[in-house]
Amino acid sequence: MARYCGSVCRLCRREGEKLFLKGDRCYTGKCAVEKREGGPGQHGRGRQAFSNFKIQLREKQKVKRSYGLLEARFRATFDKAATAKGVTGTELLVLLERRLDNIVYRLGLGSSRRQARQIVTHGHVLVNGKRVSVPSYSVSPGDVVEVAEKSKKNPLVIAAMESARSRVIPEWLSLDQQAVRGTVNSVPTREQLPPSFREQLIVELYSR
Ligand code: SF4
Repeated sequence: MARYCGSVCRLCRREGEKLFLKGDRCYTGKCAVEKREGGPGQHGRGRQAFSNFKIQLREKQKVKRSYGLLEARFRATFDKAATAKGVTGTELLVLLERRLDNIVYRLGLGSSRRQARQIVTHGHVLVNGKRVSVPSYSVSPGDVVEVAEKSKKNPLVIAAMESARSRVIPEWLSLDQQAVRGTVNSVPTREQLPPSFREQLIVELYSR
């Protein structure tokens, strides 16, 4: 499975805002967006011209990078959203939120989506009692997502849960902290999705 192996802070600097890709560090003064002005690279501080296309492209890149996807997977998710009954942009965000790696992150069982993905691929997560090691697995309302009994003592999992303890869990999920078990209460509504995403721009971009 292909994945981005470069500096994730560089991605935030490119988008000009925090994408929270690095766990704890994102909430400290060490965050590269706070420490360094402008985009990455030699011309990062230069004047930038913004065409409609560029604005749409940057929004797509921001959402794609926030969820840690590469273009092919993101495009495939968009195509699936386009065939769904609802508003395509909202359906896209809902599909991204329903990914198992995102659920593990949202439940605070991983300090970042990248770490949540690692926890899933290493087989530490059960869905409805069965081990699922596919980060793109799409959860449904009523599904129970938990850390496997043996994995509760795994240092990676313990550190991830510790660092994410203060994170607020969205209303459409619930967590039993004692049992390290989360439940998907419902599919998120647009109001429960990240307000900073302008998904309509992504729809416009892919409709060109
Ligand atoms: Fe982005 Fe986090 Fe790096 Fe800040 S510390 S630039 S939010 S990944």
